[in-house]
Amino acid sequence: MIRSLRARLTLWYLAFFTLLFLAFSIFLHSVLSRALERRLDEALSVEANTAAALLADEFNEMKGDVPVACSEVLGDLRLSGSTVAFLDGGRVLGSSAPLPPAEVDEIARRAAATAVSHQVVGLKQAGPHGAHAALVRIRLGGHGYLVLAVQPLDEVAADLALLRRVLLLALPLIIGLAGIGGYWLTRRNLAPLASMAAQARRITHSNLETRLDVGDAAEELTMLSASFNELLSRLDESFDHMRRFVADASHELRTPISIIRGEADVALTHDRSAAEYKQALTLVLDESRRLSRLVDDLLNLARADAGRVKLRVEEFYLNDLLAECCRSAQTLAATRGVTLDCPAHDDVSFHGDEELVRRMVMNLIDNAIRYTPTGGRVNASLESHGGDIAIRIADTGAGIAPDAAPHVFERFYRGDKARSRQDGGFGLGLSIVKWIAESHNGAVELASTPGAGSTFTVKLPR
Ligand code: ADP
Repeated sequence: MIRSLRARLTLWYLAFFTLLFLAFSIFLHSVLSRALERRLDEALSVEANTAAALLADEFNEMKGDVPVACSEVLGDLRLSGSTVAFLDGGRVLGSSAPLPPAEVDEIARRAAATAVSHQVVGLKQAGPHGAHAALVRIRLGGHGYLVLAVQPLDEVAADLALLRRVLLLALPLIIGLAGIGGYWLTRRNLAPLASMAAQARRITHSNLETRLDVGDAAEELTMLSASFNELLSRLDESFDHMRRFVADASHELRTPISIIRGEADVALTHDRSAAEYKQALTLVLDESRRLSRLVDDLLNLARADAGRVKLRVEEFYLNDLLAECCRSAQTLAATRGVTLDCPAHDDVSFHGDEELVRRMVMNLIDNAIRYTPTGGRVNASLESHGGDIAIRIADTGAGIAPDAAPHVFERFYRGDKARSRQDGGFGLGLSIVKWIAESHNGAVELASTPGAGSTFTVKLPR
């Protein structure tokens, strides 16, 4: 099995040209053979007709003496390679050259087979290549005679043999030229492919911004390189995304770890009272909780990115879930002096991962409470129309500026970094909300008026 495309194409090219040349040779041979035989037949017909006409004249002149008339005609004729003869049945009355008896027999037999006045026949038994004969019937003095002009096919065969020799000599030349041409053509057309492979080999994770350049190669190769370049762009983008994610995650992890270390260092420098130890440990515990929440979030997002989170789909009631989330968030709302309203709703059953949906709703309610000043209101409601369900969390908080709105669902995006951190946010809450909504074939929308509040709506198909 030949693996090289160049070798394969060259061989195909070669095989194609060889077959083409062979077919052309066969065609040329048969056309030429037919043309040569036709020319010979025409010449023989002319000679036989001329001889017949002359015989008729001489017959009249010689007052009906056929043998004398025959020899007179034979004396007058100018022949080029053919033999003219006169037959009376199977008897030769005269001929310009001796005719073998077998040939005479064959001619007489063929002539007897039909009664046409003029015909050309092929003689198999004459010479190594056979012969053609033009036969003309003539009646002289009430008796029928046969005038014939016969010529062996030796000359035709010699011409055809010459043609075969020429074609045979040309064949290796044609094959050689086709091979060289095919190799050169495929090499030239496939050169951009080799260059693409060399360029692609040089691309590693450190130079993903490099793009393949194939110059003005054929359209198919330009398309291939364009697709490859698009793939590189996507890879580059996701690499960038990952790098940013890792950098942001490390940055977020560093703060609680340094707080824990600092607190432990200070506590261990000299003996402290039990109350001071307790205070230090409380801080360490708080930061550790923060840390494990962050690690949980990161793990979830990383798993989601890898497509490894399998939804545990079951049927549950969204109205119950919303009511439970509201109950859990009441304490936080009360602490912040925010009123949390959760109007009751009829049963809305839903197929999904209850744990994840709860997390999504909790994140939204938690955000709404945290970003709403004391005295404000948060409303968590449910709507269901036909096949669509909408969970709406609206607040009367500060709202989100239009230029910040497109970014709030990005990982590690925080509107007010200092405040978020103080409140325990890492800027991952909304990206988790978005991922959960999308993993349930839904979407999350934001409508916000700065100064008047924000409304997050999660739309889920039932
Ligand atoms: P975090 O709350 O941890 O900062 P999120 O991803 O939950 O992270 O939110 C991203 C940003 O979106 C927040 O920092 C905040 O600026 C803004 N945001 C989210 N929810 C609200 C809301 N209900 N009202 C106003 N701003 C909000």
